[in-house]
Amino acid sequence: MGMGDAEAAIVLEELARVDVSSAILCQLVFNGPPRAIEHLGNEGLRRRWLPRAAEGELFCIGITEPDAGSAATQMRARLTPDGDGWRLDAYKNYVTGGHRAVACLVWCRFPGSEPGTGKGIGAVVVDLTAGGVSVAGTHRKMGLRGCTEAELAFDGVRVEPDDVLVPGDSADNSGLKTLLAHINHERCGNAAMCVGAAQGALEHAIVYMNDRSVGSRRLSDLQGLQWKIADLATELEGARLLLERALVMAGRGGTPPPLESAMAKLACNLAAKHVCDEAIQLLGGYGYSREYPLERAYRDIRGLCIGAGTVEIQRNFIGTALLGGRVPAGALWKQRPGA
Ligand SMILES: Cc1cc2nc3c(=O)[nH]c(=O)nc-3n(C[C@H](O)[C@H](O)[C@H](O)COP(=O)(O)OP(=O)(O)OC[C@H]3O[C@@H](n4cnc5c(N)ncnc54)[C@H](O)[C@@H]3O)c2cc1C
Repeated sequence: MGMGDAEAAIVLEELARVDVSSAILCQLVFNGPPRAIEHLGNEGLRRRWLPRAAEGELFCIGITEPDAGSAATQMRARLTPDGDGWRLDAYKNYVTGGHRAVACLVWCRFPGSEPGTGKGIGAVVVDLTAGGVSVAGTHRKMGLRGCTEAELAFDGVRVEPDDVLVPGDSADNSGLKTLLAHINHERCGNAAMCVGAAQGALEHAIVYMNDRSVGSRRLSDLQGLQWKIADLATELEGARLLLERALVMAGRGGTPPPLESAMAKLACNLAAKHVCDEAIQLLGGYGYSREYPLERAYRDIRGLCIGAGTVEIQRNFIGTALLGGRVPAGALWKQRPGA
């Protein structure tokens, strides 16, 4: 659709205000493999897959493995040479939409890659109807029940030279660096969905508080609860502005910068967790009931605090960047759009 990150974030935020699962299915197309193919792919990949993305087909991304989540460099997925191409052997876990998607972007080791390191890691696009691909199972989860995570097995799946999105060079980790940088699109989309879900929960709580009376007073007349709404709205707005900064810095067709994306994801994940939790509290027993949408929003955004790099991994990145001197003192506050 030619959307940049900012437009994608607006759509994701609005969808997630009502239903995060539906937003995630759009996130897979907006900020998932199709955007990676558009930015990094060869002509063959673009011609083959982008029209299908435009038609609304689902794409998925396979990074995580049972023994390699946050520590992606522990991944085992590997390519072995086969004539002018390769064979892929991999087992990918927690692949959102993997059992329904037409293609999967699989991070894997290229020949010569050193196990346990980032050297030689790259990515290929795999047609999920190809021989050797199977759905090994799906996860039953706390939330996000409108979209499912699958376990995908790749047993000797043929990979053509044209299927390579990012080649892995066994001499360095340049391929992994490129892939990690591109994940910032997904991180910002994740942050946008958190803002949307929290916004929806906050709005719902406000409507309820104006309607609900406790004895002779409406909930919205109680100062202790007014302050709560003020704090939640301020926290959410701060997180939204951090996201906006990362999106504006990406510009049209660019990639959101890593530090600002990590801060945006961290702030939006935490704000959503807090706002959705407190919104439940503001509705009392009804907040906890499935008759109202707040408990679902809370269960849904809980998963967003884990996917696309956990809250802790964002903190690791921000902390080491600052402590390692990669961000000059006082530089961050200057990085405001238009400053
Ligand atoms: C809803 C959802 C959708 C997902 N979709 C996809 C998908 O489409 N494709 C895909 O490939 N993966 C997907 N994932 C997987 C997700 O990326 C991983 O779950 C995540 O990276 C964490 O890996 P892990 O589960 O193995 O946890 P672990 O890496 O085992 O981590 C366990 C805990 O330890 C913490 N931890 C780990 N290392 C450190 C450290 N160095 N310092 C401090 N704390 C640390 C983590 O933050 C976490 O709290 C999804 C996950 C969820 C929940």
